Amino acid sequence: MQRIVDIGRRIELIPMDPHFHDITIGLYQQQSVNAIIGKATPVFLVHTYSHIAGAAERIENVRQAMQTLGGMLKTPEGLLYFPCGSAHQLGCRRVFLEACKLASHTDAEPRPLNILDKKSRLTITVDSIGDGGYRVTADGEGRRAARRVSAIAGGLMKLGEMESVETDGGDTVAFDCGYTHDALVGLLLTRAPNVRITLREEEMSATRGVLSAPSQQL
Ligand SMILES: [Zn+2]
Repeated sequence: MQRIVDIGRRIELIPMDPHFHDITIGLYQQQSVNAIIGKATPVFLVHTYSHIAGAAERIENVRQAMQTLGGMLKTPEGLLYFPCGSAHQLGCRRVFLEACKLASHTDAEPRPLNILDKKSRLTITVDSIGDGGYRVTADGEGRRAARRVSAIAGGLMKLGEMESVETDGGDTVAFDCGYTHDALVGLLLTRAPNVRITLREEEMSATRGVLSAPSQQL
């Protein structure tokens, strides 16, 4: 009889980790009582079935990088969660993918809340306005700048499951949990200008993951 350990639902997969012997690393979502928050909240497990020496250290490395890149916290059991207690599943998946790209968590740095937008050559800045809200601005004026601001705000909404906040400029988005998530927003901001390409890449890697993952990983 096979032993079944419930480690949660797999929500993301790195079929072959280029930084550690091509092992498969999965991200799993569970629901568990979080003693620190004091109620059942979504928590995330980074897991590999590989028993190669050093695999556990690699997993710990990814976990630490996720804490830095996504502003996530860790339970005593090593499960990751956001301080607000919300899942932010899409955001967490992106944090995981970016963390796995790094050879070591010591390379992980929280991303700043501004980027140079290659398309418009404008610097795009995101400011926390409280209650989980973020306002996107550009260091330029005119229709083109306004269009980029609104496109990047739209990118943040798609990548981070953020909501639009009613403003004149279509430049403000918010997390429905009402918490600030500066690290997560900084990370999403690096992808927001190319949201379509990012989503297409993710779709392709998800398909690849399904094809190349060892069947049910038994
Ligand atoms: Zn939140």
